[in-house]
Amino acid sequence: MTTSAPITQDLVTIPRKLPEGPLNLVGLTRTAMQAALVDAGTPERQAKMRCGQIWQWIYHRGVRDFAQMTNLSKDYRALLAERFVIALPEVVSKQVSADGTRKYLMRIAGGHEVETVYIPETDRGTLCISSQVGCTLTCSFCHTGTQRLVRNLTAGEIVGQIMVARDDLGEWVKPGEAMGERPRLLSNVVLMGMGEPLYNFDNVRDAMKITMDGEGIALSRRRITLSTSGVVPEIARTAEEIGCLLAVSFHATTDEVRDGLVPINKKWNIETLLGALRDYPKLSNSERITFEYVMLKGVNDSDADARRLVQLIRGIPAKINLIPFNEWPGAPYERSDWDRIESFADIVYKAGYASPIRTPRGEDIMAACGQLKSATERARKSRKEIAAETGTGAQGPV
Ligand code: SAH
Ligand code: SF4
Repeated sequence: MTTSAPITQDLVTIPRKLPEGPLNLVGLTRTAMQAALVDAGTPERQAKMRCGQIWQWIYHRGVRDFAQMTNLSKDYRALLAERFVIALPEVVSKQVSADGTRKYLMRIAGGHEVETVYIPETDRGTLCISSQVGCTLTCSFCHTGTQRLVRNLTAGEIVGQIMVARDDLGEWVKPGEAMGERPRLLSNVVLMGMGEPLYNFDNVRDAMKITMDGEGIALSRRRITLSTSGVVPEIARTAEEIGCLLAVSFHATTDEVRDGLVPINKKWNIETLLGALRDYPKLSNSERITFEYVMLKGVNDSDADARRLVQLIRGIPAKINLIPFNEWPGAPYERSDWDRIESFADIVYKAGYASPIRTPRGEDIMAACGQLKSATERARKSRKEIAAETGTGAQGPV
């Protein structure tokens, strides 16, 4: 879906490839970094403090060169430079939509590519990040779903997307400035890019811990939303181990229709999913769950669907986010008509739920929800190969 709106495109190639040897500090949990520092010769009693100092240089100030870490001794800086690197994904291209949305194509180790989208709004800016290259799931309306899973992103590659966007927005804390002095351009993070975050649980958790940490990216957990297609066994863990807000790709009100749209429903059906969701807010002490609902013409958009939807979720603190379907080349669906979407929203609203209709952003650069897909199609690898490559135990549906 292209408009005639102007598109600016520029190419930024930053030589920040991950070297083979030294360890990348980006994405290491506090525990892992402290252990690495001790291993490199840092006295154990200093490791905690050094870790905090280095985190602030990396995640508050965007420093990439140990020599600039001026509150550390010269010798210690030299030691760090010998043993470690601060490496980020490489930006291959950036596109800016007529509405200000920015889409970045980033290259990660192995030459794989992922997309990240920045969506500016009047009072905030949301970064939509990816958790996998491709997706194991095959939701029939999703462009990413037509791409095979290549591999899980590492925690460094997940938090690295936020750092690359902050580079581009020029948003690092400047010398003499304190953290939080300026309003944040990048104020919210949504795990709604490529991939199913709950099939890369450990890396997503570690990256979000850094994102939420006061000495890390320092965003409150209420500003982070993880969207899942419904990986039921990991939902309670998300509440307990991450504690961010949860969105669920619901999209249908009967198992028959949901089986065809979100195939993971065949494994964990609507009833099972709702059971897991009922406990989520209690476990994470979080606010409402967002039910995402893509509006597909003649498939899931009837008044009866709207009524069934509010009945199904009764008792769950929820808001319902209606997403007009974003088309992509060869997509087998059409977007519901506007008056249909409004009529659906009205029923939901009258039942007492907030029912915002998500405005498609960045459509002219194919940056809207569900349009992401890296240009290079890769062959599916076995789960064993993926796990071996990332060293993290990639999971997936059976
Ligand atoms: N894998 C996760 C997160 C990524 S998708 C998940 O499925 O929840 C983010 C949201 O966009 C999901 O609700 C997804 O179902 C929706 N989506 C996917 N393709 C879309 C499309 N073509 N148009 C509108 N929404 C889409
Ligand atoms: Fe994967 Fe989410 Fe797309 Fe489904 S909607 S194929 S889970 S990225």
